[in-house]
Amino acid sequence: MIIGRFAPSPTGILHLGNLRTALASWLSAKSKGGRWVIRMEDVDGPRCQREFGEQQLRDLAELGLESDEPVIWQSDRSGAYREALTNLHELNRLYPCHCTRKDLQMLASAPHEEDGLRPYPNRCRHRPWEGLEAALRLHLPEGGVDWLDSALGRQSDDPAALTGDPLLFRRDGLYAYHLAVVVDDGAQGIMEIVRGMDLRSITATQIRLQEALSLPRPAYHHLGLVTAPDGSRLGKRAGAPGLEALHQRGIGTEEIIGWLGWSLGCMEKPEPSTAENLVTRFRWDHSPADFFRIPNTWA
Ligand code: GLU
Repeated sequence: MIIGRFAPSPTGILHLGNLRTALASWLSAKSKGGRWVIRMEDVDGPRCQREFGEQQLRDLAELGLESDEPVIWQSDRSGAYREALTNLHELNRLYPCHCTRKDLQMLASAPHEEDGLRPYPNRCRHRPWEGLEAALRLHLPEGGVDWLDSALGRQSDDPAALTGDPLLFRRDGLYAYHLAVVVDDGAQGIMEIVRGMDLRSITATQIRLQEALSLPRPAYHHLGLVTAPDGSRLGKRAGAPGLEALHQRGIGTEEIIGWLGWSLGCMEKPEPSTAENLVTRFRWDHSPADFFRIPNTWA
């Protein structure tokens, strides 16, 4: 049985783009008779707030999207992340890194094409082991990773060239997003990952980490993003309404679900609907991979 998930970070309210991802992941799992879980990615302590997470869960429930298992909060999971680091160390895949942000800027080579990031030049690779308290990086093997994305088709990236060895642990005790995602997807038996296109470029690095931890590779679907009416990226200021803001404009829950369902190819034109009513109409090959603009009157 398929297990899918939605894994928001509780750093604010869920906007229409996040809600579309949530619905798509739910529909994809439910249309195959599968289970669906919510995981709160609050590993980045200072930026995350419990209240935002609770509000996100209420908003998802309003759309009819409820986790089939108790919601996991990553802030409760440091034991599992530490264990994964111990495993990786035993496999000789970790090394301590002493580079500061400033060092990295000075050392940086060609800018990363997609988002202006610069690859880490793997400068500390040969440092001797100092224990699990140091900042730790994963030693990536050379070469490309191929994977099949059901929304985008065959994909290929070389994470070693694109980002360099990823940081998995910071000296101040913070576990990296890559580590938490991969460990939890593995522990929860997640078989399919549906998320926004903005996370496509990190997939190869996460696959490398799955391989290092001998975890199975889930299926991936990267969805086209929802944009502001003018086509710009959704941000706090650039018209990224959540449910409450939409309700204040007089737009009801079923109207919102209908619009999201239509944007995922479940119907010919947007009509009010429940999530349940969309299950039998959802198919990945009908779901457009393009960007979707929020209607003018909703922004
Ligand atoms: N927590 C991540 C975010 O909200 C998503 C992680 C994922 O879906 O893999 O951006």
